[in-house]
Amino acid sequence: MADTQATPTHSGSNAADDSNGIRDTVILGSGCSGLTAAIYTARANLKPLVIEGHEPGGQLSITTMVENFPGWPDGVQGPELVENMRKQAEKFGAELQMGHLVAADLHKSPIELDFGSKKVRTRTLIVASGASARWLGLPSEQALIGHGVSSCATCDGFFFMDKTICVIGGGDSAMEEAMFLTRFATKVYLIHRSGSFRASKIMLERAMAHPSIEFLTNTVVEEVLGVAEKEVRGIRIRNTESGEVRKIELQGFFLGIGHIPNAKFFQGQMDLDEDGYILSTENVFTTRNGQKIPGVFCSGDVQDRRYRQAITAAGTGCMAALEVEKYLEEHGR
Ligand code: NDP
Repeated sequence: MADTQATPTHSGSNAADDSNGIRDTVILGSGCSGLTAAIYTARANLKPLVIEGHEPGGQLSITTMVENFPGWPDGVQGPELVENMRKQAEKFGAELQMGHLVAADLHKSPIELDFGSKKVRTRTLIVASGASARWLGLPSEQALIGHGVSSCATCDGFFFMDKTICVIGGGDSAMEEAMFLTRFATKVYLIHRSGSFRASKIMLERAMAHPSIEFLTNTVVEEVLGVAEKEVRGIRIRNTESGEVRKIELQGFFLGIGHIPNAKFFQGQMDLDEDGYILSTENVFTTRNGQKIPGVFCSGDVQDRRYRQAITAAGTGCMAALEVEKYLEEHGR
């Protein structure tokens, strides 16, 4: 889910509402964490309402082969994995709606969520809104988004058949994107601002060994060229060690520099860390001024700056769901 701002676009059934129109649980986010929470709460007969944001399926929906999710010895495509989770959640009664949260009061009981055209009251909430792609923030980069600048290789790689492109970053995302893009592009520049990499050894070695990928380290992008032409024509880069500035002609510019947690919306209502991640306790409890917020839980990448794996997101989704069940039981449901 790209952010937590969402408006339900179809009414769906109100089977989950009790006579006061109060839900037992609402889950913000339909990535692997939100969907795992949905499977568990649906199987507990809580008929969860899952709000899908701008990126239904979350980060798995824009990834390629996932080789480290247990149970898939030959790997599984990210979109297939998340689609299966979605089917599994729906099979047990989860209701999925597109939506944009415009306001929330986490400190009311029941919790109030405003989706613009519809307000939802719920006894519990799981914030599983994930994290969104990070951009460099250059004006030229922003101006050319959708015109050769992209943060999603899986979505846009196809448009760069036989072209020259670059990928920015030094983590696993950048390596994965660069490898994936060699299917289309004839040449991929991997541009990294330092000389040391966060990427895992295996992925870094694979990318380094690829004949179509050229690494440019200690290199920063100063400008994406082509704003006047409304299409990426090249980049101006600077070597931070030598100070050398040069231009490279290319047609595609991909970001692989990590993600920003989608929790900005809860600023002031919930404790967040300096980068905006939810400061959870025991991975699932949300707090305000250090005190647990009753009925409000979190899971997945929005509260996880350390592990950020599909399996850990699923794991904390399960934990949040179990805490929801416990909370409801303790409050007489
Ligand atoms: P990371 O945080 O691991 O890496 C981000 C990279 O982007 C770093 O090299 C960082 O540089 C660079 N960067 C950040 N901001 C900027 C900037 N403003 N300008 C230039 N460069 C910048 O993020 P990833 O998305 O790569 O990975 C996140 C997690 O997901 C990791 O745990 C990773 O293992 C996992 N993952 C696993 C995959 C798989 O197994 N298939 C695929 C993708 C991700 P610097 O190092 O200098 O800070």
